[in-house]
Amino acid sequence: MIRFLVSLLLICGLWGPDPGAAEEHLPLLTESKYFTIYAEADCDVTRLTTILDFNRAPSLESVMSQPAADVQGVLADSVDAIFNEASEILGTPVQNYKGKIMVFSSEKSMNAAFRRLYGVTLPEKGYYDFERHTVFVALDVLTLGVFSHEIAHALVSHYFVVPPPPKLQEVLAGYVEFKFRKKTGDL
Ligand SMILES: [Zn+2]
Repeated sequence: MIRFLVSLLLICGLWGPDPGAAEEHLPLLTESKYFTIYAEADCDVTRLTTILDFNRAPSLESVMSQPAADVQGVLADSVDAIFNEASEILGTPVQNYKGKIMVFSSEKSMNAAFRRLYGVTLPEKGYYDFERHTVFVALDVLTLGVFSHEIAHALVSHYFVVPPPPKLQEVLAGYVEFKFRKKTGDL
C-alpha cells in the first residue's frame, strides 16, 4: 500500500514541524545493490531470508547452517532479484535506485513505528513511503506477495518522472504481486 496519505498529512499540517527529524532507527542488517536493509533486533533473519528466496536457491539450506554473514548475503541477493524481477514484469528498467527496507518483527511494532512517524495507524501489511524511499514490512505477516507489492511501489515511484495516479500505481503493484504469487503457487 503506498502512502500518499503522507503528503496529505503534510498538507493537512498533521505532521510535526520538522518531518525530516522523524526517522525510525533500526539496526542495520545488510546492504544490497538497491536497498539498505534494517531490521528489529528480534527479527528471525533466517525466516525472513526463506520467505524472500523466491528463486528457491539450491544452496539455501546449506547456507542456513553457515555464519550469519552468508545468510545476509543470500537475503541481499534475493531482495535485488525481486527488484529486478518486478522491473522485468513492469518493463521499467531501473539501475540507479537506492532505498531502505525496514523489517519489523510484528505488525504491531510496525504500526507503532508508523504511528510515531506519521501520527496515524493504518491497517496494512506493508507500506512504501515515497518521500523516504522506504519500504516497511512486518515479519509475522510477511509474504513474498506483500513484499513484491511494496517493491513495485518503490520501482514505480522512482521510474516515472510524473507519478501515475494512486489507483494506477495500485494496479501496477497489484499486478507484480499477482505475478509473484502465481510464480510461487500462492494464489
Ligand atoms: Zn499498494
